[in-house]
Amino acid sequence: MWRTAYFIAIGLFLGIVSYVVPPGPFVVGWSLLVGVVAFFGIRFVNAQIEDQPTEVAAMVVSGGATLLGWILKLVHLRAQTGWFEGIGVVAAVGTAWALDALTTTAGSKICFICKQPAGDRPFSCPRCRQTICARPSCWIARHARCKWCHEREVVFPTTEEWWKRQVGPRVTTGNCSGPCLKEAYETDLRACPRCRWPFCKRCWDRQNFTCTHCGWVMPDLPKALAPFVAVSPPPAFEPNERISRRRP
Ligand SMILES: [Zn+2]
Ligand SMILES: [Zn+2]
Ligand SMILES: [Zn+2]
Ligand SMILES: [Zn+2]
Repeated sequence: MWRTAYFIAIGLFLGIVSYVVPPGPFVVGWSLLVGVVAFFGIRFVNAQIEDQPTEVAAMVVSGGATLLGWILKLVHLRAQTGWFEGIGVVAAVGTAWALDALTTTAGSKICFICKQPAGDRPFSCPRCRQTICARPSCWIARHARCKWCHEREVVFPTTEEWWKRQVGPRVTTGNCSGPCLKEAYETDLRACPRCRWPFCKRCWDRQNFTCTHCGWVMPDLPKALAPFVAVSPPPAFEPNERISRRRP
């Protein structure tokens, strides 16, 4: 939500400056700059906001900004704009696309976290979609997520309908059977349909929607996660980690 607002702000700013740039050949040069600024601006916003990066945002923002500048010139200034503005829109979008293509190809084998070559078989983290190497310092295999997502406790976006469909409504008694041990009143508990042990939503996500008590795996998992859950067995039960848990 906030990210879209930032993208629009970047687009509006660039659009207004585009409007000030006088019509003529200079517009094309400025448009190239719009593509560069939009690309790095959006990359910066993506790095700050914990969400999945978007690939087309830079092209949409740079194209929209140059188009906005053009329309403002036509409507407000009633200026004689020629084909330079049209070329400008194409140049801005093209620049953003080229930068994206260049950085993706060059960086595709570089691990997002350690910035080292990700090896022969790099893969994407199912939560942030970044390229991650298999080093234990970058990839938390036990929880099927990268260290970045692990530290920020990034969870899959899920709706109440999704939870109801998977495991039924919220449980109002007992405490989480996961490591957090939170009580029903302080967290959203959902019971495993097979063994009835409850886990909070965060712990369900943490254990990749697999019941650590009976090994039941939720059906209809997010596509990106499914391969990791299918290949890795449910995390082992650790008695010392959950001594105080009890049945509801
Ligand atoms: Zn790494
Ligand atoms: Zn991640
Ligand atoms: Zn929990
Ligand atoms: Zn269970």
